[in-house]
Amino acid sequence: MTAGDSPARPAGRERTRSFAQRIVAWQRAHGRNELPWQNTRDAYRIWLSEIMLQQTQVTTVLPYYERFLTRFPDVRALAAASEDDVLAHWAGLGYYSRARNLHRAAQQVVARHGGHFPADVEQLNALPGVGRSTAAAIAAFAHDVIAPILDGNVKRVLARHAAIAGFPGLATVERRLWATATARLPERRGDMVAYTQGLMDLGSAVCVKRAPRCDTCPVRTDCRALAEGLTDQLPTPRPRKVLPEREQRYLLLRHGDDVLLVKRPAPGIWGGLWCLPELATDDTAINICAHFGATRVTAGPTLAPIHHCFTHFRLTLNIVAMQTTRCDRHRSPPGALWLALADAPRAALPKPVATLLAALN
Ligand code: SF4
Repeated sequence: MTAGDSPARPAGRERTRSFAQRIVAWQRAHGRNELPWQNTRDAYRIWLSEIMLQQTQVTTVLPYYERFLTRFPDVRALAAASEDDVLAHWAGLGYYSRARNLHRAAQQVVARHGGHFPADVEQLNALPGVGRSTAAAIAAFAHDVIAPILDGNVKRVLARHAAIAGFPGLATVERRLWATATARLPERRGDMVAYTQGLMDLGSAVCVKRAPRCDTCPVRTDCRALAEGLTDQLPTPRPRKVLPEREQRYLLLRHGDDVLLVKRPAPGIWGGLWCLPELATDDTAINICAHFGATRVTAGPTLAPIHHCFTHFRLTLNIVAMQTTRCDRHRSPPGALWLALADAPRAALPKPVATLLAALN
């Protein structure tokens, strides 16, 4: 297979229209135009949607986006909030470092840019949690800046259209994809919103992972993967890797309708969220209960292990359930919280803990 940045020669009338012009025309006719973060120049709303949409589907993001904006309507409101409040409104979306970075970035926008998002891609890229592609998308949507994006969907479109082989996570392959993305940019600033959105829409609706809908694709006439029968081989998948397995015991200590939680340290998994206390190998549940002020304790029901998958390992949570009828809460160390089960849906909890508490309530 040959691979390169210059596409095959378009046929017929398409020869007169560039890649960008065809994406723009297609987006205006068939792309998404009614999402709540579209048709706005408000960089705060655009930035929030871009961060939420990282590794997350549009349908999942929609209710979180609306709820988040109701609570934090602008960057100053977000910057002034506590991290707990921000995490509570993010809980369930996963990848919590995004929420912590979002909070820090809002504080930087207020402190360094007077509460206004910069239009410059480099300055946007310097904000916590804003990578090069996200910075370009914000600049394009808010200010028509001509800059390339390269999110997962766009990598797939370009790897196929230009027949670029190799796993896109490799630096050499990524460099070629950036060069390809740059070479295909529109010439007119006025096309940047439709072009940027069009690439995203094409990747999520037409040039999908399995069985791309090439017959409806606006750039099929010069797509090299289609011409060479490589659409099911590109982009080259990540080299297979077996995820390591980990197990951890957690204490579920109940006192009446309340459950004991501790704040997770950041950075680290679930950093800043409220979680069940971990039990080290040599900890006995009774000793840990006593550490939190619970002296009259009995074993609770046996609960099935919970399995949770992170990007880099699989975790089995073994739950040791206990209940107490006498608890001196003043003896609980700092960083502990007794949460009423009824309040769990509004708390910043890791997903498996939220699911467990919802089942108990
Ligand atoms: S022709 Fe098919 S493979 Fe090529 S860019 Fe379009 S949808 Fe993707």
